[in-house]
Amino acid sequence: MRAVVYKGQCQVAVEQVEDPRIEAPTDVIVKITSAAICGSDLHMYEGRTTASTGMVFGHENLGVVAEAGPAVQSIRRGDRVVLPFNISCGFCFNCVRGFFNSCLTTNPDRPGAAYGYADLGPYRGGQAEYLRVPFGDFNCLKLPGQPGDQWEDDFVLLADIFPTGYHATELAKVEPGSTVAIFGAGPVGLMATLSAMLRGASEVYVVDRVPARLQKAQQLGARPIDFTQGDPVEQILEQRRSNAAIREAMRPGEEKMLGVMCGIDAVGYQARDQQDPSHEDPTQVLDDLVRVVNPTGSLGIVGVYMPKDPGGADPHARHGEFELPWGKLFSKGLQVGVGQTPVKRYQRHLRDLIIAGRAKPSMIVSQHMPLDAAPDAYKDFDQRGDGYTKIILKPDMRAA
Ligand code: NAD
Ligand code: ZN
Repeated sequence: MRAVVYKGQCQVAVEQVEDPRIEAPTDVIVKITSAAICGSDLHMYEGRTTASTGMVFGHENLGVVAEAGPAVQSIRRGDRVVLPFNISCGFCFNCVRGFFNSCLTTNPDRPGAAYGYADLGPYRGGQAEYLRVPFGDFNCLKLPGQPGDQWEDDFVLLADIFPTGYHATELAKVEPGSTVAIFGAGPVGLMATLSAMLRGASEVYVVDRVPARLQKAQQLGARPIDFTQGDPVEQILEQRRSNAAIREAMRPGEEKMLGVMCGIDAVGYQARDQQDPSHEDPTQVLDDLVRVVNPTGSLGIVGVYMPKDPGGADPHARHGEFELPWGKLFSKGLQVGVGQTPVKRYQRHLRDLIIAGRAKPSMIVSQHMPLDAAPDAYKDFDQRGDGYTKIILKPDMRAA
């Protein structure tokens, strides 16, 4: 079969690799109909992880079951399924408590496994014609409809970023009436925006510098903040300070709480420096969040921070160690939630919002490209150019 293979820094190729086969009786083989490229793939693509050449990328996968192992009971050939990017067993100490991101049996080296991702086990990714899915009963979510229907782009976003955006709002404790600041209007930030709206947030500020992405945030009902126009924290404080209705509704002393109650990091360690966006500043967003979130508020940090970064600016950064405003965080009494999403925890509920017509996450999809165009797709998405918000690779689509 054809698959997207990592060839070294900023290089992928579409190559012929061996077809996957049923290796354990609980396995399922899925014929991929859509595989999205993720901001997390770009960390590997840019050489900012321990990914080794020859890996097949792709953890956002949707397709149809081509073959089910003899021990699989609930999933059959022909079923349309989406796979959480985490690969989990469902029976270990962490899985039974809902921490599918930290499965203790599927990765021989450490807790947590995923398709086609550095350090997350020996599994190939789904930017390919076929994918092997371990523990098929547990890892396949059954879907209605047919490949290519009105839900195709919505359903592929259930593999990772819609649940990840939702997880961010869960960690940040977004509820009806909440005030929220979301850093990053990439696919994950936009899904956090959609999720904050679904949860009934009142004011949602979304910070980025890419006009098309900020425009999508605005379409979702958020207030866009362009960080190239000045300190985004100051911009948010000023919007709240200058709003007479907000001021008039305040209780005594509340003017000391002009920030927001919920803060979300949807950027991670490759955050850009606000003063000079041509450079990275790995703690820019964390610093901003601690400034903009009010005392007693909560942070949801889903942007990735890598324990090993060959491209880090100094020896500390190369080990994922950073200086943080811990004193300010402590004195504000902020609650912090951080880490990889346990996708399965949210996936079924979000699927049902899509089916019911209450959520249309696909509004962020900007391109469909044939699998063979993956080298260009990676290059374009990596530029975060205006208009490249979320790219979906289609193994069945032929190159023009
Ligand atoms: P992306 O790279 O397309 O989006 C990041 C956005 O952040 C870009 O639009 C960029 O312009 C913006 N940005 C950069 N510096 C900024 C700053 N200082 N302030 C505000 N915005 C800034 O990626 P994505 O697909 O949206 O993913 C975002 C992050 O989420 C990545 O780190 C990715 O690895 C991570 N992620 C985590 C999980 C998880 O399980 N926790 C799952 C998926 C993705
Ligand atoms: Zn992803």
